[in-house]
Amino acid sequence: MDSYGRVADDLRISVTDRCNFRCIYCMPAEGLKWLKRDDILRFEEIVRLARIFVARYGVRTIRITGGEPLVRVKLEELIAMINSIDPTLDITMTTNGVLLRQKAQALKDAGLKRINISLDTLRMDTFKDMARSEAFERVMDGITASREAGLWPIKLNMVVMKGHNDDEVVDFARLARAEGYEVRFIEFMPLDGDNIWTNEQVVPSRRIQEQIEDLFPLEPVIDARPGPATRFKFADGTQGGVGFISSVSQAFCTTCNRVRLTAEGGLRTCLFSLSETPLRDLMRSGVSDDHIAGVIETAIWRKEEGHMINKAGFIKPAKSMSQIGG
Ligand code: SAM
Ligand code: SF4
Repeated sequence: MDSYGRVADDLRISVTDRCNFRCIYCMPAEGLKWLKRDDILRFEEIVRLARIFVARYGVRTIRITGGEPLVRVKLEELIAMINSIDPTLDITMTTNGVLLRQKAQALKDAGLKRINISLDTLRMDTFKDMARSEAFERVMDGITASREAGLWPIKLNMVVMKGHNDDEVVDFARLARAEGYEVRFIEFMPLDGDNIWTNEQVVPSRRIQEQIEDLFPLEPVIDARPGPATRFKFADGTQGGVGFISSVSQAFCTTCNRVRLTAEGGLRTCLFSLSETPLRDLMRSGVSDDHIAGVIETAIWRKEEGHMINKAGFIKPAKSMSQIGG
């Protein structure tokens, strides 16, 4: 628990800082300086930390992310190792989808429960513009492969950027209805590697919601546990749904239950933290689980009250989203 009474029971684990895309809101075109192999947590180290979080603090949701998690070799083995801590854990993954045709079945068999696939556009030219990749069709096929493998429900993450893909919002709502996906519209956050973020490029969630409701009235979904997304189903009973992650226009910091582990083993209590608690070298120095747990508890107790975007004094973290693990 942190000093504001929030309980961190949603652990996000980044398994790599590398990626095969260069999304304009995340990474520079030329990439970033990658971590060295030895600096990245080994599977055994990730599992040791995951076990501490599950056994001692009751973490129930573990999300695997990156960079692009599927560029980490044999990732399905890590999923199986985490699943063996407790097969009822809600293990999910956020991926750009490009390797899912090869990997979806193995991930499902290893114990992955659900998947979020990032898809910002349904147009090939916009895909090239935003992901700086030619792999649009492979991503679409990856979504199909996930479905065929029984990774369901599928959530699609769309980062909405003014002038790039904000004219596709209604098309995504149509897709959600046609295929039964939950599409989550995410506000562009100042975590890009190119420092291009400005408030003018953010499309506030309420604008997106208005556009959708003009055609498809929505009904709120009341979740037992509040999450970052405000979720809706379609009022006419059609399958699928939409969600809004309004990190910029309506921050959800007061109910934030997330904690993040970077690929190099840094514990981050907020996406916008300006420092993190390094756990890798501590683990490698041979200390006990009790000792590590003490360090984790102190770090979480100090979790920030909230982020400062749009407030005087906001400082953009030095790391981009791909280096943190979104
Ligand atoms: N590579 C995987 C992917 O793209 O799904 C996982 C890592 S990616 C950093 C996780 C999520 O963060 C993706 O859905 C991505 O769209 C989102 N993201 C990245 N940069 C962002 C930004 N500046 N603002 C909002 N969302 C961002
Ligand atoms: Fe890669 Fe995901 Fe960042 Fe895009 S958002 S560059 S796919 S890590």
